Amino acid sequence: MTLASSPATGTAARAAYETYQARQLNLSMERGQPSTADFDLSSGLLSAVGPQDVVTDAGIDIRNYPGGTAGLAEVRALFGEYLDVPAEQVLVWNNASLEVQAHVFTQMLLEGPPSTGPWMGTAPTIIVTVPGYDRHFSLLQTLGYDLATVPMQADGPDVDAIESLVARNPRIRGLLFVPTYSNPGGETISAAKAQRLSALTAGRNFTIFADDAYRVHHLSDADHDEPINFVELVAATGNPDGAFVFASTSKITFAGGGLGFVASSTANISRLGSWLGNLSIGPNKVEQLRHVKFLTSYPGGLSGLMTDHAALIAPKFAAVQDVLTEQLGGTGLASWTRPKGGYFVSVDTALPVADRVVELAAGVGVGLTPAGAAFPNGVDPHNRNIRLAPTRPTLDEVRLAMEVFAACVKLASEEYQDTDPSTA
Ligand code: PLP
Repeated sequence: MTLASSPATGTAARAAYETYQARQLNLSMERGQPSTADFDLSSGLLSAVGPQDVVTDAGIDIRNYPGGTAGLAEVRALFGEYLDVPAEQVLVWNNASLEVQAHVFTQMLLEGPPSTGPWMGTAPTIIVTVPGYDRHFSLLQTLGYDLATVPMQADGPDVDAIESLVARNPRIRGLLFVPTYSNPGGETISAAKAQRLSALTAGRNFTIFADDAYRVHHLSDADHDEPINFVELVAATGNPDGAFVFASTSKITFAGGGLGFVASSTANISRLGSWLGNLSIGPNKVEQLRHVKFLTSYPGGLSGLMTDHAALIAPKFAAVQDVLTEQLGGTGLASWTRPKGGYFVSVDTALPVADRVVELAAGVGVGLTPAGAAFPNGVDPHNRNIRLAPTRPTLDEVRLAMEVFAACVKLASEEYQDTDPSTA
């Protein structure tokens, strides 16, 4: 690749960087968090349940223990609709889908799918995509799973690589990935790839663990990607137990006070409910009923709320694209994704300077996700990938942070070219 650079632009890049240094900024595009304005859309949640609501239509007193481990009937119906599965194929737990994932992966280790028994002691390996979500890697590694990586492509995980791993490595037990608007690149799996993955579950010890955290997080109602129904797809292959689909309201209502849930076969949901019954008498039913009352009374329901989020978030994603195009377009210094939804944009620098870009940005008060975070053990073998998370800052802050980011990419690339004789 030919890089746009000359001693003159080198001077300009350093001068631009130094002007930001003088401003003592305090901005962060590090983690995917909703903004205060996003949270404010769901303020009604805080008062959605009053003393008159404490007994459900089914006669469950939400203040007491009884009610089971799968969640209130009302909330299972609501999120069944959300995930496009019958209510009895959904289990609604507490505030984090990551915790639900942890429970499922723990159950697999200690109990296993009925067909194979416990995975523990069999060196179970889960395929993950790179770049991918750091908390998936650390969750699996903490539980003792080995990871195998495959590239994330524009239309979803590299299924050729997955098929080849499954054929070669008998320790592969499944795939954990983000099917819609992936973290960090915003890619959505195509229907054709979803079909091939589902076919892999047939008659094999291969389970699809789909973390559909951004299923309805479109930037536009008119132009968006379509989520895949993996529960239905695997059932059609004759292996209804072959998929778990996780989601939550963390990026719908409150990141720190939402609901996490999972859909799968009726048998899997019933087994998971029994498993959880050993850990807890049941989830927080007050939170569950609040979500039902709030989301069903929001104008336009859950999709109305997502449209209101998009009105806040889409301009920030547009600002990211605008500044990247204005500042880095045509320079050959970086390429980036253009997602239609989700929470992130993934940038690849042309040169191995991702860590230096993050360091330079920190030097002027702009926090970025650490370089390498989207790879297992925090190591990007090419030192090129940087995840941008534009949802939390205000629109003006996003624009400024992106200008700093672009200046850091230019400066880091020049520094590299100055010191690496092979690029001279
Ligand atoms: N899954 C993905 C892909 C995410 O990006 C995130 C948060 O950034 C989460 C899960 C966290 O979800 P929860 O709050 O439901 O645990």
